[in-house]
Amino acid sequence: MYRLQKEGFDAYLVGGCVRDLLLGREPKDFDVVTNADPDQVRRVFRNCRLIGRRFRLAHVHFGREIIEVATFRGAGEEQSDKQVLNKEGRLLRDNVYGAIEEDVWRRDFTVNALYYNIKDFSVVDYVGGMADHKAGVIRLIGDPDMRFREDPVRMLRAVRFAVKLGFNLDPECEKAIHNDAQLLASIPSARLYDEAIKLFLFGYALQTFEMLRHYGLFQVLFPATENSLAVEDSGFPRLLLVKALENSDNRIAEGKTVTAYFLLAAFLWEPVRMLAKEKMAQGEVEFIAYQDAASEIIARQIRSTALPRHISMAMREVWSMQPKFNARTGSKPSRLIGHPRFRAAYDFLVLRAETGGADPELAEWWTTYQNASDNEQRKMTQPPRSKKSGRKRSYSRKGKDSTPKTEP
Ligand code: ATP
Ligand code: MG
Repeated sequence: MYRLQKEGFDAYLVGGCVRDLLLGREPKDFDVVTNADPDQVRRVFRNCRLIGRRFRLAHVHFGREIIEVATFRGAGEEQSDKQVLNKEGRLLRDNVYGAIEEDVWRRDFTVNALYYNIKDFSVVDYVGGMADHKAGVIRLIGDPDMRFREDPVRMLRAVRFAVKLGFNLDPECEKAIHNDAQLLASIPSARLYDEAIKLFLFGYALQTFEMLRHYGLFQVLFPATENSLAVEDSGFPRLLLVKALENSDNRIAEGKTVTAYFLLAAFLWEPVRMLAKEKMAQGEVEFIAYQDAASEIIARQIRSTALPRHISMAMREVWSMQPKFNARTGSKPSRLIGHPRFRAAYDFLVLRAETGGADPELAEWWTTYQNASDNEQRKMTQPPRSKKSGRKRSYSRKGKDSTPKTEP
């Protein structure tokens, strides 16, 4: 910011970092906004790269840090709001540059539209953002319905910020979400995937899930999951997902990592299980039924949110390893434990066991097995009352015919 200022430009901090700093929290990242256009920014910084399709931005690299530097967006709001579904129109409009007084109206919520000015260390507030910040209110700038039509992803952002900050949605904003939730379905699935990740991997997944359901947004993101929650038998389906979300939040609180595929596997497990059950009732073999169900549920899900290939593959692996935990004799356990996805699949088994979907004794056995010495492991996997030759024969036969291969 000082560099930009030295070159004669204005520079402000804006968005999440100002909002979070005002709460005494450490911002996730810093967004800078300036009246220099992207090419001018590039000339000021050697370590700078221009990016972005919907909105051209400069990324300024400082060692391993990247600071996003945007140019003030131009106005033309009246007109642009009438071009809601015209994507090309939107793209053009987003790359129209302007002044701070215009830029502010393009932002989503009042608390996201505070500018910190390094010239005099003041916060510039055109939209009552400070008052809303104090009151803890997420309020859209302008007419809520119009702003959601302009970009339906703002509905997800409203929920994400409300949960993250412990703020409430302004009643007008709530009302508009109830009316407009279905508009989300028109957003490209790749962008919805990115948003879904932000919603569920930042440490408040359970609360976010509840709030998204409350506003009818969850069903747009995960329709199959929503359906499976509706037919909840003896309370189990919901438990697994809730527990997975809770565990994930706890891990983040402890500074541990969480993976998207594990959580997504939990989201879609119940739909997969239900569909597999149907297929088995029609005579399919268990293993094939699960494979087919997994393919079908993933194919349906990607109509809502994209799933990168490595993610859907990992999800399938976690699912397809579940039946394999039942084989506790011979060399199968030691082979399973060597699988790169073993740890995740085991965690998933524990999750199922904790929520009534698998035998807790089975999960305990695998806990013990993992921590046992080689010698103890050999003892654990010996078939009861078996003769050496018998064990060998039965193992090699099974190994050939019925060992399910992991999904490619
Ligand atoms: P965080 O980074 O903590 O998730 P943030 O508010 O910084 O939250 P970003 O996605 O980094 O969110 O966006 C930075 C700022 O850009 C926002 O605060 C907002 O002013 C503006 N902005 C981002 N996305 C939109 C959008 N879809 N519509 C309008 N304004 C947006
Ligand atoms: Mg940000």
